[in-house]
Amino acid sequence: MQVVTTVQEMQAVARQAHDAGQTIGCVPTMGSLHAGHASLIRHAAATHPFVVTSIFVNPTQFGPTEDFDKYPRNLERDIETVSAAGGTHIFAPSVDEMYPPGFTTTIHLRGIANKFEGTFRPGHFDGVATVVAKLLLAMAPDEAFFGQKDYQQTLVVRRMVRDLGIPSSIVVLPTMREPDGLAMSSRNVYLSPEDRMEATIIYAALCDGMEMAMRGFNDREALNKIMRTRLESIGRLDIDYVAAALADSLEEPEEFQTGDEVVLLVAAKLGTTRLIDNVLVRVGG
Ligand code: AMP
Repeated sequence: MQVVTTVQEMQAVARQAHDAGQTIGCVPTMGSLHAGHASLIRHAAATHPFVVTSIFVNPTQFGPTEDFDKYPRNLERDIETVSAAGGTHIFAPSVDEMYPPGFTTTIHLRGIANKFEGTFRPGHFDGVATVVAKLLLAMAPDEAFFGQKDYQQTLVVRRMVRDLGIPSSIVVLPTMREPDGLAMSSRNVYLSPEDRMEATIIYAALCDGMEMAMRGFNDREALNKIMRTRLESIGRLDIDYVAAALADSLEEPEEFQTGDEVVLLVAAKLGTTRLIDNVLVRVGG
């Protein structure tokens, strides 16, 4: 396992791999790795001899009142997780390495970046788009692997890569869940035992919506209401949004058509922990 900490060295190592005829798979992360991240690394390792996981807690995608300072960090353990999942390299730059003094460039997307997470976390997707572009330029992957868990992020990244002509393919893989359905997340460690039990309501609400949509139920507001009612059965849950939208555009028509692929999205806080989750469903099954 090679740990690389500078952009220049990362580019040199990636170039050597390409020159030697190897393809590169990369998995951008903020570290504190769990089985969801490991599944992305394993998929990358199944098709690429060179698999680099970036570990960088990106300050520019956190709002001023968010959890940047207390975000869990554990490089030693992460190295073990990457290694066990078949990764060959880690790219772990410092904040100064990624944002040297005088850094002024931001990538800003209109449209899909401006609703849901974009509304509740202003500037978040500017930070994500800019750091992902920098990470892809450093790691030069043939394929970059992302989780469906951050659904809107996958749309933003795909759009940004297409718009800028970055020569990497984006692969999106399913969300890994705990046995009770809770989506795995580095932030789950913040949950108190009571929060942890109640957090399962999020996936339960998404399953309610999914079941109705599969049966052909296509009234968007009514789908939202079904999910919201389930979420509100936990009084302490502070809902940011619960929504059903067309999966490729995030548009919200009054009614979906049979055959539409729809994403059901939830973001909510339990205590001080903010959780997001989503499922994809085809209307009418
Ligand atoms: P993060 O470290 O939270 O920024 O996540 C890094 C990557 O792992 C992103 O592409 C996430 O969507 C993905 N990821 C996070 N949680 C999961 C999960 N439970 N299952 C699959 N992928 C995930």
